[in-house]
Amino acid sequence: MNGKTIMACIDAAHGSLTAHTDEIALLDQQIGDGDHIFNMLRGMEALLAVRAQIEAEAFGPALELAGSKVLSTVGGSSGPLFFSLLNGMAKAAASNGMDVAGFARIFAAGVDAVGQRGKTGVGSKTMMDVLIPVARRFEELAAAGAPAAAVLDALPPLAEESMLATRDMIATKGRASFLGERSRGHIDPGARSSQLMIAAVCARLAQSS
Ligand code: ADP
Ligand code: MG
Repeated sequence: MNGKTIMACIDAAHGSLTAHTDEIALLDQQIGDGDHIFNMLRGMEALLAVRAQIEAEAFGPALELAGSKVLSTVGGSSGPLFFSLLNGMAKAAASNGMDVAGFARIFAAGVDAVGQRGKTGVGSKTMMDVLIPVARRFEELAAAGAPAAAVLDALPPLAEESMLATRDMIATKGRASFLGERSRGHIDPGARSSQLMIAAVCARLAQSS
């Protein structure tokens, strides 16, 4: 795991978000202002533009560099939140091993950082409704000694189920919360983009592990 792996994951996430642009734009038009996918793609494109720099770094510094690029290019709520995920993971990378348990803790630290930044947990109809259950399951699987391949198989279906569950929630955070009860019946765009990125990254890592 190094900068090259991080970049391969960014490529996979970028490919999946690009393929779902119209769908995610529509989700954010329904309960937000329509910009979520474009915010995310702007960040991804900024990362692709510094490919050589990211690829040259070790795992933690590559995440840190990616985070700082995202922070300086992405607006909306998702810019600082996506930065927090990458930067929280980068910080935890310094004190954790590159094994399943280490990665579970690194991912959980990134998700914790998003929670602190956005001041939210589960049930507010945000990306956290995908990130938190995935981080928890990852840690449970790691504690049970699951091999990497089993983790990479188990997380995408959980992410999908968690993303779909946001449809029945009422938003209490972010722009969608202005709609109150009317936010019900629509999947949260940040939950959808997070789930797609998790699925793409797991599929990419499963190829190489
Ligand atoms: P904005 O809402 O400023 O237009 P985006 O459209 O880029 O920003 O992002 C919207 C997404 O951000 C939502 O779909 C939701 O998943 C996520 N979000 C909003 N507020 C929060 C928060 N406080 N914590 C975590 N995620 C949030
Ligand atoms: Mg928006």
